[in-house]
Amino acid sequence: MSELHKFIFDGLPVRGMLVRLTDAWRDILERRREAGGFPAAVTELLGEMTAAAVLMQGNIKFNGALILQVQGDGPVKLAVAEVQSDLSLRATATVVGEVAADAPLSHMVNVNNQGRCAITLDPTDRLPGVQPYQGVVPLYGDRGEKLERLSEVLEHYMLQSEQLDTTLVLAADEHMAAGLLIQRLPLQGEANLAGSGVSRADEDQIGRNEDYNRIAILAKSLKREELLSLDADTILHRLFWEEKLLRFAPNEGASGPRFACTCSRERVSGMLRSLGRDEVESILAEREQVEVGCDFCGAQYRYDAVDAARVFLAQEASPPTSQRVQ
Ligand SMILES: [Zn+2]
Repeated sequence: MSELHKFIFDGLPVRGMLVRLTDAWRDILERRREAGGFPAAVTELLGEMTAAAVLMQGNIKFNGALILQVQGDGPVKLAVAEVQSDLSLRATATVVGEVAADAPLSHMVNVNNQGRCAITLDPTDRLPGVQPYQGVVPLYGDRGEKLERLSEVLEHYMLQSEQLDTTLVLAADEHMAAGLLIQRLPLQGEANLAGSGVSRADEDQIGRNEDYNRIAILAKSLKREELLSLDADTILHRLFWEEKLLRFAPNEGASGPRFACTCSRERVSGMLRSLGRDEVESILAEREQVEVGCDFCGAQYRYDAVDAARVFLAQEASPPTSQRVQ
């Protein structure tokens, strides 16, 4: 069962989260198997992204989708992990060409330092025409050096956007996607990824809190194999047995991380409308149906001439709602 554990260090300005995606992660890979699956290195990257997206969603008070996206300039053109506030999630990647089993991050997505990582917060109640918040970070460090770990990229991002020290340990294989997050608590109020409410005092604290620094070093000692094979209780005990942890009831089962796709025929119809009647009719002139597949879950949506006519008829009756495909 997939699970998200939240905890705080009693009396210290430090909190943590541990996510273990088992069935939720295997559901994502299963949907892809028919299309040939992902190369091993891409499985690892996408699993780490999915675990990180759950941790980031779990870390903020926000009603909507958190979308973690890497747009690459290598064979991995795009990798996306999307987590809703109820922790339902989906993920996919677009791979063009070969990826070696042990390909480092830069070989997959940052060959010419043009790769980008974007974090989007798309609120459920967003009005049409309003852009969701998006933060973008490069995949290289302060001196232009290519970053080879997704955790480093995201730590950098969270430090910039929240002004809070954050430690991330991520790991994934074809059975499990898991992650540990340790974060210094803001001196007052809630931190958020959109960067508002950041206080000067929090900025001054960066790197200086000894409790956080000690706990971060313990967290960083967690090995990939341990994160992938040990249960949550064992991991937390092994790392923090000398600390006093206060643990909350985990999110698991129906309230835990689980695979669910948000695609629908209605959204695909909206996309066809934005393509325009001429475009759709020209496709129908060449073949019997317009076919749109969902990259996340593999669902196929088919429209024949009658269906397509209905899509555009509906448009005349009511204004278009969403431009999003999936
Ligand atoms: Zn879908």
